[in-house]
Amino acid sequence: MRRLLLVNALIFAVLASAMGLAYYGYSYTSEVSTREREIIEDTTRDLAEEKVIGIESLITTADAKVFDEVGRAIELDRLRDDLKRIGSEPLVESIYVLDENDQPVLDGLVSRRETDDRLRARTLFLTQIAPTLPLHATPDNVRGHLQGTWDRRTYLFSFMHKTIAGHPYSIVIETNLTYLFINVFPEFFPRSPRLYQLVDKDGVVRYGFDFASDPSNVVIEQPFNETFDKWRLRVAQKDVSSQERAGRRRIMDFVLIGVSLVVILAGLAILALAIRRERRANELKSEFISNVSHELKTPLSIISMFGEMLALGRVKSQAQGTEYAEIIWRESVRLARLIDNVLDFAKIERGVDAYEFTEGDVGEVVERAIELSQHRLAKAAMTIEATLEPELPQVQLDPNAFTLAVLNLIDNAIKYAPEGKKIAVTLAAEDDRVVLRVRDWGPGIERDEQARIFERFYRARSVRLKPIRGSGIGLALVEHIALAHKGGVGVDSAPGEGATFTIWLPVPAGAVVPARRGRTVA
Ligand code: ADP
Repeated sequence: MRRLLLVNALIFAVLASAMGLAYYGYSYTSEVSTREREIIEDTTRDLAEEKVIGIESLITTADAKVFDEVGRAIELDRLRDDLKRIGSEPLVESIYVLDENDQPVLDGLVSRRETDDRLRARTLFLTQIAPTLPLHATPDNVRGHLQGTWDRRTYLFSFMHKTIAGHPYSIVIETNLTYLFINVFPEFFPRSPRLYQLVDKDGVVRYGFDFASDPSNVVIEQPFNETFDKWRLRVAQKDVSSQERAGRRRIMDFVLIGVSLVVILAGLAILALAIRRERRANELKSEFISNVSHELKTPLSIISMFGEMLALGRVKSQAQGTEYAEIIWRESVRLARLIDNVLDFAKIERGVDAYEFTEGDVGEVVERAIELSQHRLAKAAMTIEATLEPELPQVQLDPNAFTLAVLNLIDNAIKYAPEGKKIAVTLAAEDDRVVLRVRDWGPGIERDEQARIFERFYRARSVRLKPIRGSGIGLALVEHIALAHKGGVGVDSAPGEGATFTIWLPVPAGAVVPARRGRTVA
């Protein structure tokens, strides 16, 4: 009982740890994939930040240089000579130098536009854009910027207020967006392995391609601070193959966890089954021991009783004395057979090679077994009807073992089917086999038990309740003997209609058929 409890506890512990392990594996895998996504997000964010800073610093550096050089030119009164050179900086579209009334100072205007366009842009700047620039709200020497759409076109301006020789000036730079889009952005945003997009405050894509709306894409947004107001750079992981790989690995992990769980569960199920079978075998064994002891005890007590009577001379006549001696002899034969059965069975169980084969005649062996059973048959008021084919081929045979098998079948018929009054034994050659059949007209065997009665220690349900003694090893022994002869056994029975047990032996190719006497025993 304690052992059983321990085994159950062990099974439970293994199950619990398997579940724990599976849970751990599952959460670890999920964590790893979340962590992987976080890493991708982090690197993408760093990259987006780097790109925005790079673009903005290009513009602000160019701006700073222009503010500086324009300031110096005003100071040296060289604006007329220098402004064109200063405006040749590729990131600059136009430079406006304004006085305190926001009017252009003399020669304070340069632009890379064509003449017509330049005039149009100048007018637009002075009438519409300049008034909206917070020129006077920004402290001296501090860069300000404004981006907006005028006349359906986008402009980006940087400006700085400076006081030179006591006069206030505003220097306004219009950034060369064409240069930026055509020359700078392609360098910053190569095609692979990521996708880049510049979107304005309304989410309209101003540069780059539309992303496929794949939710597995990692998309990071980074705003511009010093140039394009409210524009954002969006970076997406274009190459999703690494994510696909991660997904595949996750599936693999789950499959592995699943398979291991199934293996563990199957192992536990097999273990539980083995334990159940072991327990059942143990139960059967103890049942067997009590049955055998009981079977040994009965003939022994009969022998000792009649032996005592003979010894004390308690016999009325010579005939009675002979009868007592016969009883003693019979019971000792029965006892010897039982012991033979048990010993042979034990030998087989231990795996010892218990057989000695010679070429022999099955008919003779069967005849001998019938002779040995005559006394028991007479006592049970039963007759045996034997039909043994006279010319049977010689087979490989252990005569003692085969006799034991036939005796067991006849004994069973006497034990379980005495009401049928007769037993039919037939022996015949059928194809390449020699087949022995022992038929009785007893209670028969339930269908579901027909295979089980050949198991060691198994006794049918119906006989367990009756006072019919047995050990449950007879048929197991019969089957073992038949298999050792490379043959087989079987039973054919319907409840209430008796049973036919069959043993068949193979006939070796080219076996000799001896010229025999005819035989029919009745
Ligand atoms: P035992 O006879 O010692 O119980 P066996 O292995 O010889 O063991 O037989 C196993 C069981 O098969 C028997 O307990 C009995 O239930 C059943 N059995 C065997 N022979 C017959 C038969 N001729 N008729 C009905 N039942 C039988």
